[in-house]
Amino acid sequence: MSDHFDLVVIGAGPGGEKGAAQAAYFGKKVCVIERSPKPGGAAVNTGTIPSKTLRETALYFSGLRQKGLYGVDLRVKRDITISDFMFRERIVVEAAWQLIDENFKRHHVTVVQGSARIVSPKSVEVTRFGQEPRTITAEAILIATGSHPQQPTGIAVDGSIIVDSDSLLMLQKIPGRMIVIGGGVIGCEYACIFAALGVKVTIVNSKSRLLAHLDAEVGEALRNTMTARLDISVHVNVDAKEIAVEDDHARVSLTDDSVLYSDVVLYCAGRIGNTDGLGLDELGIVRNQRGYIQVDKHYCTAVPTIYAAGDVIGFPALASTAMEQARVAVCHAFDLKYKQQVSNVLPYGVWTIPEIATVGEPEDALAARRIPYEVGRSSYRINPRGQILGDTDGFLKLLFSPDDQRVLGVSIVGEGACELIHLAAAVMSFGGTIDYFIQSVFNYPALSDAYKYAAYDGLQALARHRAQIAGLHSTSAPSPVKT
Ligand SMILES: Cc1cc2nc3c(=O)[nH]c(=O)nc-3n(C[C@H](O)[C@H](O)[C@H](O)COP(=O)(O)OP(=O)(O)OC[C@H]3O[C@@H](n4cnc5c(N)ncnc54)[C@H](O)[C@@H]3O)c2cc1C
Repeated sequence: MSDHFDLVVIGAGPGGEKGAAQAAYFGKKVCVIERSPKPGGAAVNTGTIPSKTLRETALYFSGLRQKGLYGVDLRVKRDITISDFMFRERIVVEAAWQLIDENFKRHHVTVVQGSARIVSPKSVEVTRFGQEPRTITAEAILIATGSHPQQPTGIAVDGSIIVDSDSLLMLQKIPGRMIVIGGGVIGCEYACIFAALGVKVTIVNSKSRLLAHLDAEVGEALRNTMTARLDISVHVNVDAKEIAVEDDHARVSLTDDSVLYSDVVLYCAGRIGNTDGLGLDELGIVRNQRGYIQVDKHYCTAVPTIYAAGDVIGFPALASTAMEQARVAVCHAFDLKYKQQVSNVLPYGVWTIPEIATVGEPEDALAARRIPYEVGRSSYRINPRGQILGDTDGFLKLLFSPDDQRVLGVSIVGEGACELIHLAAAVMSFGGTIDYFIQSVFNYPALSDAYKYAAYDGLQALARHRAQIAGLHSTSAPSPVKT
């Protein structure tokens, strides 16, 4: 086998897989180097797929979805074991491995197992325990090595009492109590999953809001559901000062001098790029203190033949964006007239209970940037599908420009949010206005209809505000329509 390729990809996570397939699709000879025995990276092995599968399992076993429908506890199994909990996760992960292998085979991508280090702008050394190092050369290199959880200071992750989002999946039993340190996406998702299983969960968040990067109303709604429905205790504006293990449990001292005890502490306070040992400094490739590689708009590093995409370049660090960045990177590397940039309309999905999704700007960001906006809201309570599903807390919040009614941002909290958001993303991608929602016919009964009522509500708010500005009483403003 020749060791010269058009493209060498380091890492077989979503970024590496899709970048490799994209180049191979256009006839390039591609090699992927992966140090783990299985492909898929964090998305398949420790992150996206496991956590989303466990969420479905938790909803099923807890009967939570049905509780709102029948008013009774339809818990399927009262004493859930860790193997009950992990059963479907294993099936789904194995299916994902198979799909990636099929994708590589279909595109004739060569997969080499081992740890890669870049030794020159066009060559990579691969080492594997018990084997001689091997040098692979290529016209271009794509770094898609991902990231790993940041470790707590002063105590090691032991996989049983102190865990991170990787070792959490190795737990041998479902704990009675869990402290989650970090109120970001991963912390909130796992807090909801374990609380649904009946674990007494406490979140410790250094910021004043959960999911602080999202619309404040969204974080507030999540917090209300967490506390009222899932019995989660949420501590904000406070950090963990010291984490210690005492016998079979953990003691966590907080900066407000309170002390919490728990069977398991899940530490979710950010991630670090997998760049140590890659040989980047020797090549002059810049990375920041979190290990994230600096790239230009084509995902090219300081070395013209070397690209980087996915978690290893930092924000937004999603499987969805990793794949697109990698496709754009290889198109640029080989001058393929195909995908030139990643869409600037990015949907975000957060698989908490309830589900959350957003696109565009949150309200506080618009306010901070002094961008004029109007708000329209619609509740799942007034939506027949919301009633059928028993999700009457859900809502859709629509932000639009008062001047031309262009959609500026949408946040959805509730069942189906992560799918529903794509409609807003499509309208925003085409520079659409809320008129799209007003003029469109939606299936009935369907949650998508919430867009129409949020748009009506927004028009009413706009009319009220215009009337106020014109010095009229808001009641005399013409009511656009709400039928
Ligand atoms: C708990 C959790 C939940 C998540 N949920 C979501 C979600 O719902 N939606 C979403 O879009 N994203 C989610 N993410 C994020 C998502 O998993 C990542 O954004 C995505 O996996 C990044 O893809 P990547 O290809 O950049 O890196 P990775 O998936 O991390 O893959 C990198 C690969 O490179 C390999 N590698 C590293 N160094 C070397 C080396 N030197 N040599 C050879 N191989 C190497 C690694 O073994 C790994 O297989 C979640 C993450 C976590 C942790």
